[in-house]
Amino acid sequence: MTSTASLDQQRTIVAQACRVAAGRGLVDGILGHLSLRVDDEHLLIRCRSDSDTGVAYTTPTDIRLIRFDGTAGGPGELDGYRVPNELPIHVEVMRAHPMHLGVAHLHPPNVVAADLAGITIRPIFGAYDIPGAWMARGGIPVYQRAVLIRSTSLGKEMVAAMGDRPVVICRGHGITSAAGTVQQAVLQAISLDELARMSLQVLAAGGTVREIDEWDWDDLPDLGTTFTTDAAWRYEVARLDNVQ
Ligand SMILES: [Zn+2]
Repeated sequence: MTSTASLDQQRTIVAQACRVAAGRGLVDGILGHLSLRVDDEHLLIRCRSDSDTGVAYTTPTDIRLIRFDGTAGGPGELDGYRVPNELPIHVEVMRAHPMHLGVAHLHPPNVVAADLAGITIRPIFGAYDIPGAWMARGGIPVYQRAVLIRSTSLGKEMVAAMGDRPVVICRGHGITSAAGTVQQAVLQAISLDELARMSLQVLAAGGTVREIDEWDWDDLPDLGTTFTTDAAWRYEVARLDNVQ
């Protein structure tokens, strides 16, 4: 188990990631949740309480330590807090892919609408968002069921549909994004939302959604995590001051 100080830092990071996701419009109201794996038996997850005011207003105290089976991970952790119904999303992703420490389950309307419109998310842009373009190039799988993923078997179904990709669209529902950090999981979700929003916009303008030219990939380099993750995240946190 990690030390208390470190756990508190992690609660702060997960809470911040919840507010970033909501600030970007990837979740509305009280739905959606983020988690961070702590060790082989524990995770921190955004829980709900009777005084809950929604994901956009998540505080570090909303992030509770639980065991993979949904029970309290320490004394008092679930006093006044409830684990989300869709805990199996987080646990089954973490069990299947130990490298995924951060998991974001969100309901981004652009992604849900694009999928329901029959649009396959593809790399329709390049340097506009390089990490997003590469993520789309690898394929964005779809879990075809619109159900509430509240059982282990449904969680496993979604993970099977996800395969080895970092994100999966849950049809008529939302998305799950997983990565080595919770920040990266949210950045991936932002990129996916932008791919979907842009696809819808191109079609609405009467255009055709088509992939960028093959020879362009050689000049869409990985600009490094300092730029694509660290700087990107500083921006996301800074802009929260303006959206809430
Ligand atoms: Zn959901």
